[in-house]
Amino acid sequence: MYAQIIVDVPTQQTNHSFDYLVPSNLENTIQKGMRVAVPFGRSQRLVQGFVVGLSAHSKFSGQLKAIDHLLDLRPVLNEELLQLSQWMSQQTFGFWISCMQTMLPNVMRAKYQKIAVALTPQIQNNGFFQGQSAQVIDNSISVNMQKQLFNWQKKQLIDIKYLVKDQAKQLKQWFIQRQDLDYAQILTELKPQAKKQRQLIQLFIDQPNLQQISLQQLLQKEHFTAATINAVVKKGWLTKVKQVVWRQPTEPKITPTHDLVLTAQQQNAYQKIINAQNQVVLLQGITGSGKTEIYLQAIKYFLQQKKTALMLVPEISLTPQMVSQVRGRFGHLVAVLHSGLSSGERYDEWRRIETGAARVVVGARSAVFAPLNNLGIIIIDEEHEASYKQEDNPRYHARDIALWRGKYHNCPVVLGSATPSLESRARGQKGVYKLVHLNQRVNQHALPTVEVVDLRMPANLTQQPDLSLPLVQALKICLQRQEQAILLLNRRGFSSFLLCRECGYVPQCPNCDISLTVHLQEHCLMCHYCGHKEAIPTVCPQCKSKKIRFSGTGTQKVEQQLQTILPTARIIRMDNDTTKHKGAHQQLLERFEQTGDILLGTQMIAKGLDFPNVTLVGVINADTGLITNDFRSSERTFQLLTQVSGRAGRAQKTGKVYIQTYNPQHYAIKLAAQQDYEKFYQQEMQFRHQAGYPPYYYLIKITISHHSQAQAFKMAYNIAKQVRTVLKKDEQLLGPTEPTIARIKNRYYYQIVIKYRINPNLLKVLHQIVNNVQIDKKRGFLVAVDNEPQ
Ligand code: ADP
Ligand code: ZN
Ligand code: ZN
Repeated sequence: MYAQIIVDVPTQQTNHSFDYLVPSNLENTIQKGMRVAVPFGRSQRLVQGFVVGLSAHSKFSGQLKAIDHLLDLRPVLNEELLQLSQWMSQQTFGFWISCMQTMLPNVMRAKYQKIAVALTPQIQNNGFFQGQSAQVIDNSISVNMQKQLFNWQKKQLIDIKYLVKDQAKQLKQWFIQRQDLDYAQILTELKPQAKKQRQLIQLFIDQPNLQQISLQQLLQKEHFTAATINAVVKKGWLTKVKQVVWRQPTEPKITPTHDLVLTAQQQNAYQKIINAQNQVVLLQGITGSGKTEIYLQAIKYFLQQKKTALMLVPEISLTPQMVSQVRGRFGHLVAVLHSGLSSGERYDEWRRIETGAARVVVGARSAVFAPLNNLGIIIIDEEHEASYKQEDNPRYHARDIALWRGKYHNCPVVLGSATPSLESRARGQKGVYKLVHLNQRVNQHALPTVEVVDLRMPANLTQQPDLSLPLVQALKICLQRQEQAILLLNRRGFSSFLLCRECGYVPQCPNCDISLTVHLQEHCLMCHYCGHKEAIPTVCPQCKSKKIRFSGTGTQKVEQQLQTILPTARIIRMDNDTTKHKGAHQQLLERFEQTGDILLGTQMIAKGLDFPNVTLVGVINADTGLITNDFRSSERTFQLLTQVSGRAGRAQKTGKVYIQTYNPQHYAIKLAAQQDYEKFYQQEMQFRHQAGYPPYYYLIKITISHHSQAQAFKMAYNIAKQVRTVLKKDEQLLGPTEPTIARIKNRYYYQIVIKYRINPNLLKVLHQIVNNVQIDKKRGFLVAVDNEPQ
C-alpha cells in the first residue's frame, strides 16, 4: 500500500505529493486527511505531512521511504475539507499545504526537533550532554560544536535523530466519581469523628444527580483536603479518574434569551431563508431592521432539523454583544472561534465542533473552515466587510469559501448587510442570489436624520480644530438630556494623501480616477495602479491656497479637544492603544453603557453596537476614507458612514447624526447622509463600468520581488508580456508599477494589475508562471498572485 503525502517543508513547497510506503501495521488505520510523520530529504529528518491519497500502486520507480508514524487516530481533514483545500489552492494561487494548515488550529502544525543521542556512556559525560543520554540541537549551538557533533556522528559515538513534536495537547484533570453504592448505608459505617469524610459522602447524598466533581473544585471551593479525599477513595467509595476537559474561551455564565415575535417583514425574510434550499440569500436590511433575530431563528430551525449552523461576523472581539446573544439562545451548543483565543482554547473549540459537541459556530474569517458536519445554514453578517479577505497567504475570501461549502452541503448561504458589497448586490440584481429587503426598523422609527457639516465654512468652526460648532452644540444637548453619543474618527488611509484644507481638493490620477498617494522616499505623488507620477504641489491647483498638506488626526487629540469643550463629559476612548489586552473591548463597552457619555473611537466602533440610549453620532472626518488609492474608497466610505449612523436612535428615542467633511458634494457622503443605498449603488456601478472595475471586471494583482531592482523589473516585464498574449480585446493589464511601498527588507517590488472577465487561459498561464518561479527557487524571485485584491 502507498500513500500520497503533501509534506510541510517550507523550502520545498510544491503542490505535488510524494509517494510513501505504508508499513503493514498501519494499513488498517491510515486514512486520507490524517497527519503523518515521514522522513524527508537526504538527512532523513522527520517532517509532518498530510495524507491526500492511498493507492495499491506507485508510479515512482525508485526506492520509496516508509511513513514513520501517524499523528492522528482519525482524519483531521474530512473529505469535504480536503476537496475544499484543493479548490482553494487553485483559486488563491496558494500552496495546498498552507490551505490545509489554514483550516486547522495552529497547534496541529507539529514542531520539529533535532536531537543528538549518546551511544556510549563516555560521551554522555561530555559537557554537551551534561550527563543526559540525549540533547536537543538548536540554533544556539556554535559552529564549532556543530563540527564536533558531525565528527562524533562519523565515529558512531552519537546518533542524530529528528522528532516530530505534536503540539496539540489535550488538557486533563482529575475527577472524583460516584460509585454504584448505597451512600446512606456508608454514612452509618463511618465513625462520627471522621467529620470531613462524612461531609464528602453527604455531598453525593444531597445531590443524587452528581455523577462526578473535579478534584480542583473539591479542594478549592469545597475546602476538602487531599488526605480526606484519598481516604475515601482508598476505601473504594469514590473513584479518582483523569479526564479530558475542554478549555473554555467564553465566560461559563450564559444569560438565556428567548425568541422575539418577528415583525411581518422579519417573518417574510425568515420564511424565504428557511425555504431557500441551496440558494444564496442576500438579506439587505437597513440598520436596526432586526437581522440578528432572523439569523437566530433560522439557526434554531436548522438545529431542529438535526443540522448544524455556521455564522461569520467581521471581527468577533468587536462584537461581544453578538456572541452573548447567540450563546444566550443556544447555550453550550455554541463554539466561538476568533483570533483572540489562546492556542489551547482554539484547539479545544475546534475539537468540540469536530466531535459534534458544538453544533453552532460563531466566528471571524477563519471560522469558515469549522469542521461542522451536516451544515444546515451558513450566515455571513456584514458580508461587505473587508476583513473577510485574508491579506496573507493563502489569500482567500471567506465569502467564496462559504459559497463553496453551501454548494457542498446543499444548504442556504445568507449574506446579510445594510450596505451590501457591489459584487453581491449585482448578483442579487441579476437573480443569481435571492434578494430580500428589510426597509423598516423594528422600532418603527425612521432612520436618524443626518446633517452634513461643511468644514470649509468659517461659521462652522470652533476653537478646537476637529470639532465643528453644530456637532459641539448637539453634544451639549445630548449630555443635558443624559443621553449618549458615539464619535467616529476615521483612520483609513491615514496621512498617505494630500488634502487642501481650504477647498477639499485631493490630487487625482489623470488615468485612473484614483487619489494619488504621497511617496516620501521619492518626494512625489504617484498612482498605485498605472504608475503615473507628479510633483507634490505647494499650492492647491484648484483654489491656490497654501493649506494643502498631509491630513490626519489622532483619537487622543480629539479626546483632549472634547475634554476642553465639555469638561464634565465622561469619555471612553476606544482605539488600538486602549484595546490591547484581552477582553478590553467588552470592558470598555460595558463601561460606556453603564457610566459613559461619549464613546470616541476608530472604525472598531462603527459596527454592530446596539445601545438604546445612544441618540447622537458624530463623524469627525468623513473624508479620510475617500482619499485612499483604492477604487473601493467610495464604497467603503458609504458603508462606514451608513453603519455608524445606524448606531443612533435604535430604541425609543430618535437619533441624530453629524458628518463633518471637506467634501460635502461627494456622492458617497451625500448619499450616505440621505441613507440612499439604491442611488449610491446605481452611481457607483456607473463608475465601475466606466473605469473597468469589479463587478464588471475581475481583478488580479501580481506582485513580483527580488533583491535586485533590475531583476525584479525584468521579471515583472516578462510576466506582463506573457500575460498579455492571453488577454482578450476588452481585457487590460496595468503595469508593471512600483507599489506604495516599493522596497521591503531590501527586496524590490513591482506589481501588475489585470482586469479580466472570464478567461480560463489566463488562470492557466498564471498557475504556470507561479509554478516556474517556485521550481527555480535559486534565482531568488518571489511572485504572489492576489485574486480579487481588496
Ligand atoms: P440590525 O442588525 O439589522 O442592525 P439588530 O438585529 O441589531 O438590527 O436589531 C435591532 C434591535 O431590535 C435590537 O435591539 C433587537 O433586539 C431588536 N429586535 C429585533 N427584532 C425584534 C422583534 N421582532 N421584536 C422586538 N425587538 C426586536
Ligand atoms: Zn484648494
Ligand atoms: Zn493611474
